[in-house]
Order: sequence, then C-alpha cells, then structure tokens
Amino acid sequence: MTLLTRKAKPVMQTSPLRFAEEGAETPASREAAAPAGASTPEAATAEARDPSVVCAHDLHLYYGPSEALCGITMDFPRHQVSALIGPSGCGKSTLLRCLNRMNDLIDDVRTTGAILLDGQDITDPALDVIELRRRVGMVFQRATPFPKSIYENVAYGLRIAGTSNRATLDEAVEMSLRRAALWEEVKDRLRESALGLSGGQHQRLCIARAIAVSPEIILMDEPCSALDPRSTTRIEDLIGELRGEYTIIIVTHNMQQAARVSDYTAFLYEGALIEVGATKQLFTKPQRKETEDYITGRFG
Ligand code: ADP
Repeated sequence: MTLLTRKAKPVMQTSPLRFAEEGAETPASREAAAPAGASTPEAATAEARDPSVVCAHDLHLYYGPSEALCGITMDFPRHQVSALIGPSGCGKSTLLRCLNRMNDLIDDVRTTGAILLDGQDITDPALDVIELRRRVGMVFQRATPFPKSIYENVAYGLRIAGTSNRATLDEAVEMSLRRAALWEEVKDRLRESALGLSGGQHQRLCIARAIAVSPEIILMDEPCSALDPRSTTRIEDLIGELRGEYTIIIVTHNMQQAARVSDYTAFLYEGALIEVGATKQLFTKPQRKETEDYITGRFG
C-alpha cells in the first residue's frame, strides 16, 4: 500500500509558527517572540527577533546518489520541545544530525539548502563546527560514557575548551548533574567510574555532559529506546524540566512519547516533511490523511 509519494506535496502547517513559507509571520508568532525566559540581553534580543532558533530552508541531503532529505523547510521554536516522528528510515536521525553537522562525519554526504541558527547558516563550510557542537549538543540512542570517573565525564567538554580552574569545574559538574536529575544519586561517588552506573543513569550522565558546556539546543536521538519504562519516565520528566531553558529536538519512534513530551511535532515520510504543528493538534486533528494514517497505526 503506497500511502505517500516523495513528490512535493504542500507541507501542512498547523501551528502559528512559520514553517513552509519564507517570511510568513503571523500575529501569533510575533506574540510568541516575547522574550519571557531570556537569560541574557543578547538572548533577549535574539528571542525578540525570532521565536525560532533553528530554521531549515529547502534542505536536501544525499548519501551518495540516494536522497534522504527531500527539501525540508521548517522552524524549530526556541525553548520548546520539538519531536520528529515517522516510520523507520524516513530521515528523522539524518535531519537531527544536520543540526549540528554530525553528518559531516559520514563519507559521501552532500547537502543543499540552508539551516539557519539564529540567522547564521550552519551549512557554511567555513563555520567553526566545534563551536556549533558546543551550542548544539547531542544525546544519542545508546549512552556512551567515557571510561573515566563520573566527574570527568561531565567536566570533559569544559576541559577540552580550556577550563582548568577547580572551583569552576566543581560548580559546573554539580550544576549539570543537578539539572540532569542525577546529582543525588552520584554526589558521593563522583570519582568512581561512570561505567558502573545503570543504563538510565548513563543516559542522564550524557545529558549532564551535554549541559555542562552551556548549549542552547539539545538534540536527542531516541534517548529512551534502550531504557526500561522506569528510566524512560525519568528521562521524559527531565525533558519536561529542561523545557523552557533549552531548545530540545527529539527523534522518537514512540508516538506516545512524542505526545507526552513535545510542544511541536513534525511527521516525516520518505525524506519529506508531511505535516508539522502543535503536538496536541497534530495528534487530535491532523490536517493530512497521511499523518492520520500514521498516528492511527495504519502504516509504519
Ligand atoms: P530514521 O532516523 O527515520 O530511521 P535515517 O535518517 O536513519 O532514518 O535514514 C534515512 C535514510 O537514509 C534511510 O534510507 C537510511 O538507509 C539512509 N541512511 C542513513 N544513514 C546512512 C548512511 N550513513 N549512509 C547511507 N545511507 C544512510
């Protein structure tokens, strides 16, 4: 049964945010731009300027001759949780990896189009990719702690960036572990190997490691797929706690999880963006039949 075609179909926009049309701003999006949670004057200015922190414009990605992303145009709202859903192989992880140039690490990848991070095109070859990855952190499907102590795992990015002051590191490690809801469990064994932690703790440790370098965006690629239900709930709760402070973009194959944790959801199919909008609306009143078929389990 072919439910969808790869050929260009209009993307259905079901939220007040600008998605498909360049410059199509609405009064609601301007209202959403109010910099309520901005932590610095620069952040306040950026938020006032544009409620979306990342905007993909006609993004195509090719693995060799094979087109994996077919002209994605969408915005990721600042300080909100956006979920990418769709059947396996539809391009969710590929799109996520574009947002901090992780696809650069794969041979024979070519992209066209643009991805603007606060207005700057991050596909520019001259971009400082190390700085980009500090601003846009990533948490993977399988947590991969380094074979180092819990403390050193969290301090790692700061040390790489040249921070060696002990008090600064101590403060950052504690703050990051607290934000990742792991401090109480590990505060008495910071010098022990991180490899001794459980799977759920590993994932929170990796979130702490990402937080330590003060990112603006945290990308999460199926962060709960290897976790038991209890650990999954902890990560979902944590995403809820981090919302508002960070922009979070999560890939999940679990629609219930997308519905629980995200503010906005984008449905992808065969490399194309089919529909994007406020999560509640997308799951209760999808605008496209393909979305409805997917969320009701008719395919995927
Ligand atoms: P999803 O995350 O939705 O499961 P992916 O982004 O992993 O989808 O994959 C999208 C398409 O790109 C698939 O056809 C997949 O086989 C292909 N693909 C993903 N990674 C690579 C790679 N490193 N090399 C070649 N093709 C890839």
